Amino acid sequence: MSVQVIKPRIRGFICTNAHPVGCEKNVQEQVDYIKSLGAQNSDNLNVLVVGGSTGYGLASRIALTWLYGGKSIGVYYERPADGKRTATAGFYNSYALRQLAAKDGFFASDVNGDAFSDDLKRETIDRIKRELGRVDVLVYSLASPRRFHPRTGAEHQSVLKPIGEPYSGKTIDLNREVIADVHIEPATDAEVEDTVAVMGGEDLEMWVEALMEENLLAKECTVVTYTYIGHELTWPIYRDGTIGKAKEDLEGRINALDVRLSSSMGGHAYLSVNKAVITQASSAIPVVPLYVSMLNDIMDAQGTNEDPIRQMGRLFSEHLGPSLTPALDADRRLRLDDRELRSEIVGEVTRRWDEVNTENFLDLSDYAGFKRGFRNLFGFEVAGVDYDAPVDIELV
Ligand code: NAD
Repeated sequence: MSVQVIKPRIRGFICTNAHPVGCEKNVQEQVDYIKSLGAQNSDNLNVLVVGGSTGYGLASRIALTWLYGGKSIGVYYERPADGKRTATAGFYNSYALRQLAAKDGFFASDVNGDAFSDDLKRETIDRIKRELGRVDVLVYSLASPRRFHPRTGAEHQSVLKPIGEPYSGKTIDLNREVIADVHIEPATDAEVEDTVAVMGGEDLEMWVEALMEENLLAKECTVVTYTYIGHELTWPIYRDGTIGKAKEDLEGRINALDVRLSSSMGGHAYLSVNKAVITQASSAIPVVPLYVSMLNDIMDAQGTNEDPIRQMGRLFSEHLGPSLTPALDADRRLRLDDRELRSEIVGEVTRRWDEVNTENFLDLSDYAGFKRGFRNLFGFEVAGVDYDAPVDIELV
């Protein structure tokens, strides 16, 4: 047991510690939201969430557990507490999820390690055999800066860069809290390939193949993974950039997996296009903090804003779940970004983006909300938590 008072250690978009009580409260709030949607009846839904400790993966796991009574295994890469150092937020979130699930009579267990590796896939497969028997829903929500390739041993680093020509645009300098110009040189071919190796679809394909080889995917199983399209302001750095190339690869492989799954077991693989939200992964993308600060301000005023749990509540209560039929666009994608891309929202973001500068950005965006949302990710500034009270950081 190591008890201490925890204050946030934040620089820019990096926070190096987390608060276990704040994280628990965050998870509890997400669970409460899903409970408010009303449980749907289902017999024995078995769920595997890869990347299930934060952001969209955590929200997916919570939604599937409390909507359907799903039994879940969560796979993630999170650091436990070590001496005086707190665990990561995802570690505390997962601890809280297991406690809350047990309290409500749901099964939840975790595998912590590198999801790209063969060892971790094997360990997860052993667990599935012992604890679930088969997988009805596989959610793949991994966001990672690097991948050690299990076959070649190569280390691939993903980068967030434009392709073909440099990008110059506006961003919030999170350290100085000013609107600054950002200039990013285009990626090299090797950087594009590396980003595709990390964030493309090869690893998801490997997961599906490993599960199929062991006959662990249930008949009529669902595989779902996430992507982003967004406002065209973000395209040079996202959709048309290195990460966009990786997502293109993911989309191609999802469609090929869909063909394989549907012909062999009546299963399906889907890509859901989600809204831009504040997560650890998205805060690191240039342009995104300013864009999301504006977007949230506009969508909050309109009453249409959604955080990850509201997005995933909608995904799994309206589109993907026992006896639900997903509404797909012409390219077979689920569009949870429909509200973000309404023409009046897109138009208002464009108008504000043209005007924004250091003097007016606090009026033209909800930057205070973005900062709070970022701190919340690590369990800080969560309402109702006494941050002067010492807490045990060593939860296992
Ligand atoms: P996140 O940073 O909140 O979560 C990433 C998850 O991946 C965590 O659970 C982490 O532990 C896990 N992880 C990272 N490396 C790992 C490894 N090597 N082995 C095992 N687990 C590992 O990310 P997020 O923003 O929720 O993104 C999840 C997905 O949603 C991504 O595909 C992302 O592109 C997509 N998406 C995000 C947004 C957004 O605005 N955040 C919008 C649309 C789509």
